[in-house]
Amino acid sequence: MGGYHPEQLTNLAPATAETVDGWHDDLPAIVIGSGFGGSVTALRLGLAGIRTLVIERGQHYQYSPTKMVFGDEVSPRSESFWFRTQALWPTVPPVAINPVPGILEVARYNGITVAAGAAVGGGSLVYTGCTVQPPRRYFETLWPAGVSYRELDEVYYPLARGMVDARRVPSSLYQSDPFTHARVFDDQMASAGYPTTRAHTTFNIDKMGRELDGTLRPSAIIGESTFGNSDGVKNDMTQTYLPAALRTGNVRIQALTEVTAIHPRRHGGYLVDVTRWNADGTSAGHHQFGCRMLFLAAGSMGTTRLLVRARDTGTLPELSEHVGGNWGTNGDTIALRTFTGQPGRSQAASCVSTAFVDDGVFGIPTRIENWYSMGFDDTNGLVQFSVAVDTDNRGTWTYDKASGVVGLSDWSADKNAAAEQTALRFNQMIIDKGVAGPSQFPDPLGLTAHPLGGCEIGEATDLYGRIHGYLGLYAMDASLFPGNVGGANPSLTVMALAERNMAHILKHGQ
Ligand SMILES: Cc1cc2nc3c(=O)[nH]c(=O)nc-3n(C[C@H](O)[C@H](O)[C@H](O)COP(=O)(O)OP(=O)(O)OC[C@H]3O[C@@H](n4cnc5c(N)ncnc54)[C@H](O)[C@@H]3O)c2cc1C
Repeated sequence: MGGYHPEQLTNLAPATAETVDGWHDDLPAIVIGSGFGGSVTALRLGLAGIRTLVIERGQHYQYSPTKMVFGDEVSPRSESFWFRTQALWPTVPPVAINPVPGILEVARYNGITVAAGAAVGGGSLVYTGCTVQPPRRYFETLWPAGVSYRELDEVYYPLARGMVDARRVPSSLYQSDPFTHARVFDDQMASAGYPTTRAHTTFNIDKMGRELDGTLRPSAIIGESTFGNSDGVKNDMTQTYLPAALRTGNVRIQALTEVTAIHPRRHGGYLVDVTRWNADGTSAGHHQFGCRMLFLAAGSMGTTRLLVRARDTGTLPELSEHVGGNWGTNGDTIALRTFTGQPGRSQAASCVSTAFVDDGVFGIPTRIENWYSMGFDDTNGLVQFSVAVDTDNRGTWTYDKASGVVGLSDWSADKNAAAEQTALRFNQMIIDKGVAGPSQFPDPLGLTAHPLGGCEIGEATDLYGRIHGYLGLYAMDASLFPGNVGGANPSLTVMALAERNMAHILKHGQ
């Protein structure tokens, strides 16, 4: 299976009990989570003829070419956040909201705010579409030798890029008004001696062109992204891997269904307890599914929370002590500056260009990217987003018996410092060159959109995501990462790694 099939998830079943009738008790496979890792896993299981239920906590959104489906940074809605009573995002005022199953989970732990997608399609609905490979040297510093960079580079990175039709922004778009921020960013970088290259993006080039010519409601070109794109302008999982999985006839998806616990079944396999949600945040009841193979793809936070709880409450006591450990932020930092000259009107959301800085002048090796926030509309503000190769700072997820909560127990603000200081020094260098000014807004430090690790490959699992201690139990998402990609945004590596792991497991067995 390869290639790109742009189409919407039209045959996705609604979240009702009938959806999974006859699919309850002894499924060959369950996948928890429908983000990057879960969607790849579902497709490969479906193609192998294995009946698979994908259980997803979030909603299935229907895009519209003309209407505003989601809130955005300047007009957030309750549905912008996963069960919060107050909006929490650097560019969004902390307004009171209703706790509902919304599209973005944002949680605060000691010294770090962590964001992750919560919808059918997972992070692929809220991400910035930047689809980059880590440099070999830093990947190999962080990952076990048994995960071959060469194999990913030759086989699985190209496969994943093809499946989501990742492309570079062409000059026709780059020269348009909404990409002023990208041209300015590139000029600043070049004049400081750090020329950029174009990054692959999954923002659909043709749809962005249609937004510009007025045949689609503007979404990407006005900066919508973090809370969803109403016209589905990103080639997200609901338009790539998931429809392909459903077309196999072996895969079904159950939305608004959150897995709360995992137990082993007496005769082999697993039982998962779920809570079903109504869109207004009320419970639609509890249920249990049974399966022979269980794939955890609930993201770094989701998978880690489920596994730590299972180990420490004694439902899966044989899970290793590595579960919950080696968690990191991918060295994410947002730093702000301005540019001289006229601001563009509203600006496009997608990241266009990147430079990898590892000359040792500013601190640790860091990838610098341009980004845009709607909070800067009508100002000359620029956003520099960076991911640093932080090999040292890691956290641990633990279960607190008294509260019954799994949390990030040992993080603190100083663990962000190496990455943040590197990014801030680089930002200041650009300002000192006289090609940018300081921002009037404070840098929103202590934020990651790239939670990684918690079920590390080669430690908590074997080299293909088989979780140690239990047959037929797998992790297939960003929880497998060693806390940091190695100088890249994670999504491409999540897809490529899941492709690699599934190819191996389907060939060699449980
Ligand atoms: C604002 C933002 C911008 C980003 N920009 C980029 C970018 O430009 N490029 C890039 O590479 N990466 C980006 N990322 C990061 C990227 O989205 C993640 O690294 C990626 O989504 C991780 O994939 P995953 O499969 O591990 O998990 P996810 O894609 O997060 O999928 C996990 C799924 O599991 C579901 N789930 C969780 N818990 C449960 C449960 N208990 N029961 C049932 N379902 C559950 C979630 O709702 C979700 O759908 C961004 C992230 C954010 C938040």
